[in-house]
Amino acid sequence: MTASIDIKNVTKQFGSLTVLDELSLSIPANEFVVFLGPSGCGKSTLLRMIAGLESVDSGEILINGERIDNQPPGQRGVAMVFQSYALYPHMTVRDNMAFGLKNISVERSVIDARIAEAARMLEIGHLLDRKPGQLSGGQRQRVAIGRAVVKEPEAFLFDEPLSNLDAALRTRTRIELAQLHQRLKSTMIFVTHDQIEAMTLADRIVVMNNRKIEQIGAPMEIYNRPATRFVAGFVGAPA
Ligand code: ADP
Ligand code: MG
Repeated sequence: MTASIDIKNVTKQFGSLTVLDELSLSIPANEFVVFLGPSGCGKSTLLRMIAGLESVDSGEILINGERIDNQPPGQRGVAMVFQSYALYPHMTVRDNMAFGLKNISVERSVIDARIAEAARMLEIGHLLDRKPGQLSGGQRQRVAIGRAVVKEPEAFLFDEPLSNLDAALRTRTRIELAQLHQRLKSTMIFVTHDQIEAMTLADRIVVMNNRKIEQIGAPMEIYNRPATRFVAGFVGAPA
C-alpha cells in the first residue's frame, strides 16, 4: 500500500497572503519525505491540501498519477496525524480507531482485526477501552498513529506529530515511526521545523521557506551542499 504523490504548480492564498507560490514536487512511492521549514512557511497548508482539508487555488495534486485535488478527503487513500492528536474525547481508544472505518463501511470483523494488529504494533492493546483523557500525551499520539494505521492508507501525512512530546519520548517515537515505514512501505510525508528529526527520518528533505521550496535533497546532501544561504543557516551547516 504505497503511492506516488505529485504536486504541480500549486498556489495557495489566504486573502491577500500568498502562502504557497507555484510550488512543484514529486514524491515517489514508498519515500519518507520531510517538509522542513520555519513556522509559518506553509508546511501544514501543503499537507492539508494533500489531505483535502484545504482547497487548492491553482495547480494540481496527483496521487498515483490521478488528479485528486477535487476529490473528497476520504477518497484519497491518505491518513493524517496531527500534532494535537485530534482524538474524540468521549470515545474509547477502540472507537476512535474504528471511527473512520465505519464511515467507509468496512466490516466489523475486519475493523476489529485491523485494530488488534495496529494495537499490537504500537503497544496500545491495554489502552483500547480507555478514553483519551485517561492517557498520557505519548499514549495519545500512539493512538492517533494507530487510527491512521487502521485505515491502511497509501500515504501517511504527519504534521509535527512529535512536537508535544518530551525529549525522550520524542526520540523513541521517532525511531518507531521509522520502523513503521519499513514495515508498511507506505509513502510518508512528515512535517517539522526540527532539523534533527528531518536529518534522522528523511530519505529526502524538502526545505521550505517564504512560499517556496529552497532545496530538495538527501539529508547529507542538504547538510554538505546547502543550495542557499537560508538552507545553510537553517540546517546548521557551514555556508
Ligand atoms: P507552517 O505549518 O509552516 O507553520 P502554515 O501552513 O500553518 O505554516 O501557515 C502558513 C501561513 O498561512 C501562515 O502565515 C498562517 O498564518 C497562514 N494561514 C494558515 N492557515 C490559514 C487560514 N485558514 N486562514 C488564514 N491564514 C492562514
Ligand atoms: Mg504547521
